[in-house]
This record gives sequence, structure tokens and C-alpha cells, in this order.
Amino acid sequence: MTTVGILGGGQLARMLALSGAPLGLRFLVMDTVADACAGQFAPLLVGDYRDEAALAEFASKVDVATFDFENVPAESAEWLSARVPVFPNPRALAVAQDRLAEKTLFRELGIPVPEFAAVATRAELDGALATVGVPCILKTRRLGYDGKGQFRIRTLADADAAWAALGAQAATVGLIVEAFVPFERELSVVAVRGRDGEFRTWPLTENWHVDGVLSASLAPAKVDAALADTATAYARRLAERMDYVGVFALELFCRDGQLLANELAPRVHNSGHWTIEGAEASQFQNHLRAVLGLPLGAPAMRGHACMLNWIGAMPEAGPVLAEAGGHWHDYGKEPREGRKVGHATLRADEPQALAAALERVGQALGRQAQVAPPVAVLRAG
Ligand code: AMP
Repeated sequence: MTTVGILGGGQLARMLALSGAPLGLRFLVMDTVADACAGQFAPLLVGDYRDEAALAEFASKVDVATFDFENVPAESAEWLSARVPVFPNPRALAVAQDRLAEKTLFRELGIPVPEFAAVATRAELDGALATVGVPCILKTRRLGYDGKGQFRIRTLADADAAWAALGAQAATVGLIVEAFVPFERELSVVAVRGRDGEFRTWPLTENWHVDGVLSASLAPAKVDAALADTATAYARRLAERMDYVGVFALELFCRDGQLLANELAPRVHNSGHWTIEGAEASQFQNHLRAVLGLPLGAPAMRGHACMLNWIGAMPEAGPVLAEAGGHWHDYGKEPREGRKVGHATLRADEPQALAAALERVGQALGRQAQVAPPVAVLRAG
């Protein structure tokens, strides 16, 4: 009996556990809170990631460890890896935790990135604005997610307000200024690499955000083959350099037909949730296979899929369940503003059938279902 330990007990851990059940796997999830939603499906160990006693208990009960949450302290991941195999490796986790280290690595590997500069003081912010230019975004280097820890700087006159909002964090999590990219579209490549180095990607996905939070993902993205090949090549370069094992997502901006890397998520990713019903092997299934050293499943798609995120509160399920290709995921979380509480995936063999299904769901659910952007892409033919 193999037990997979997961650090972080949110919906990603929950979907990993659900996906691992047919493989006969057991799970142990560790989280800082007792109501972590993965605890509804797997034993939950409540503890601080910096607490050695809790980590030691976790290590003693699992055969292999992985993450649902990339901000587990890198030292904790390191400590754990001396006791039990940890995938992805703590070095990869450490790079992905720091926007500066991540962007520096992208550049080193020839992966284009928006202009950026590290900022430690108010004076350095002025220097960064001079080199990077405006508009730009001041971001925390660490611990930011879903658009949190970010301040848009439209003109130089916004510098004081940006510093007032985030300056105090320069000494703790660090800051970075990034050029604002007026992108045409946001894309992501979800990839998996096995322990033996085997590398696979799911079809490129197009993503839309509202207030920095993912609202919809459409796969396959409508892009030409050369662009998709470039995205895949970037992901492979990163995976090989980091000796990465498991699933990760590379988020990209597309502007004037060129790709710019935004960030790397060292875990299964929201933009890959459609793979549960839309691909032969889901990102969750392949992440588990990768960390266990099993053969990887095929990422081949079945038709076209669109995922809609439920933010804040779950809508009524009926309109999605009434669709032939409608799939419902309720994470069992308490409703809270801005919180990801579930998603739906709609799947169809033909793009126009998917557009029609999305329109019906959008009509029934109103603003909670952000169907307009994917419908526009599908209808454009
Ligand atoms: P992040 O947490 O860096 O992934 O940012 C969340 C979202 O904010 C992204 O998915 C984009 O929609 C937007 N965003 C972040 N950085 C930039 C940028 N440099 N230029 C334009 N939009 C950005």
C-alpha cells in the first residue's frame, strides 16, 4: 500500500486524492487549518509547515511527498527531502516561489520575459521605473497569488501610492517591478515530466482572468502550430533544467504573435482542470504517476473543453448538469468573497456545440459564468 503525502490541503490536493483512488493509493494531507477541503477525502494532519515535529510525523507516514501549495517554506521541503522522496524537488520549488529567481531563470534559458527589476528601497523603485518604464506592475516577489500583492503603476505619479501599498513588504517578501504587457491573450502550457525524464504536455490552453483570478479556460487554444511548439519547447527547457518531476504550468502572455513568460506554477494548475474530463489522462492522474515513477498517461484531448471557475459561492448546478458534456466540481468549501469554491467543465466534440452549451449555461447563470470570452473565440471559427 503506497501513501502519497500532500503538503497543502486545498482543492488541488482534493482532486489529486480523488484521481489517485483508482490507483489504489492512500493519501495523507497536511495543512495549517482543520477545515482544509481535501480533509473530506483523505486523512488530514493539521500543523505548521515550519513545525519539525509535525513534519516528522508527516514524513513517517508517507512513502513520497508532493505539494498542492507552492509556498511551503523551501527549508521545510528541504528538511523533508532528507527523509522521504519529494517531487518536485525543493530547488525547483524555491525558484518558482520567487518571481525574481524565476524570471532570471527564464531569461537564462532564452525564454522571453517582460522587462523587470528587483526593488529593495523607495529609491530603487524610482530607478526601476526609469529602466522598466510605465505602465508597469509592482509585485511581491514571494507569496503573491491570484493577483494579490500587486499594484498597477500607470504613470510615474503612482509611485508613492505603490510604495505606500507594498513598500513595507520589501524587507520581508521582496518586491519586483515588471513591465505591463498589453497582451492579446493569456495562454498556459500544462506539462508533466516523469522520474525517467519522459516529458509530455496537454494542448495549449487560453485563459481569462477577472480581478487577477482565473475565470475561464479553453482548450485547445486557437493558435498556430508554431506558437504551440514554441510554448512546449519553453516548458521542456524549464523542466529539464530544474530536473522537474510532476506536473507544472507555465503561464504565458501572447502579444503580436510572440510569447512572453509570466510565471511557473510548480504544481497541478487551475488552467489544467479541464483535463479531468477533456483528456485521456488528467493532470492529477499524471502528476501522481510521475511522482510514483509509473508510466505517464496520454494527454490527448477529447474534442474541445471549457472550464468555468466558481468564485465566492457555488451557483445553481442544474444548468451545467443538464448539458450532455457538463461536469460539476464542488470543492466543499465555505463561500467567501474571492475564494475559488468550485468549477465546471463543458466538453463537446465540435467547437460550435461547445459554444452553444456555454451560451445556455451563461444565460441561466448570468455573471457567475464568464462565458463571453471563450464563446467569442469558438464562434470566430
Ligand atoms: P500573476 O499573479 O503574476 O499571474 O498575475 C495575475 C494576472 O494579472 C495575470 O494572469 C495577468 O492577467 C495580470 N498580469 C500580471 N502581470 C502582468 C503584466 N506584467 N502585464 C499585464 N498583465 C499582467
